[in-house]
Amino acid sequence: MLTYIVLLGPPGVGKGTQSKFIANELDLPHISTGDIFRANIKQGNELGKLADSYISKGKLVPDDVTIALLRERFTQPDCKNGAILDGFPRTPAQADALEILLNSLGGRVNLVLFITAPAESLIERLAGRWSCRAQGHVFHERFNLPKVKGVCDIDGSELYQRDDDKAETVLNRIEIYKNQTAPLIQYYTERKLLTEVNGIESIEAVSTEIKSVLKKVLPSG
Ligand code: ADP
Ligand code: ADP
Repeated sequence: MLTYIVLLGPPGVGKGTQSKFIANELDLPHISTGDIFRANIKQGNELGKLADSYISKGKLVPDDVTIALLRERFTQPDCKNGAILDGFPRTPAQADALEILLNSLGGRVNLVLFITAPAESLIERLAGRWSCRAQGHVFHERFNLPKVKGVCDIDGSELYQRDDDKAETVLNRIEIYKNQTAPLIQYYTERKLLTEVNGIESIEAVSTEIKSVLKKVLPSG
């Protein structure tokens, strides 16, 4: 059976953190378009340069580029049973493209987990986020400390603070989320796919709530 789960929510709400848990639990790949863009930026290729010109300003990378990237990712063998989508779709046009793509693969979006938290929490979480250079694992200087300061627990690579997590870019990203991504709340509510999760609780509490949603919605999971 193909399983596709979308994590929707503002920047810093915990999509990446929870996606990793869900991906482990369901043995599906965690696909973060942000991580893929950052890998291309690191390589310094054309896609990376283009993506960086948007990401550094807190703007969305254009739909055609992002959709093509996702389509390409889905051709890889680890996606054969589905995927956990973190940060895609971010616009209704991306959601339409996803529906067409999944249809062509014989699947559909099974569940959209919409994680919420107030803006103060998002700003606090992003200001203290430390991300790993190798695979985008995330830690927090207060809420999710690595065992050794500056080192990823999982793969030992260096932890760094993303440029776009600076206060002024974060405010832009939250505004862009409200204008361009929040319409997806209605989009997926109308399709009866959306479940809201209260993201203000601790990482463990949010994870427990998500597990209970998965049990209800994916009876075999
Ligand atoms: P997103 O992918 O939605 O931008 P992340 O998963 O990267 O969010 O989380 C943003 C930051 O907040 C990270 O530093 C992470 O460790 C921390 N974090 C995630 N979930 C929680 C939570 N429930 N409570 C406190 N901090 C959290
Ligand atoms: P966060 O974890 O804070 O939600 P991401 O790592 O998902 O941030 O994304 C970082 C940046 O990459 C976004 O601010 C945006 O510029 C770009 N990006 C990621 N996913 C998409 C997407 N689906 N569409 C357009 N731009 C995207």
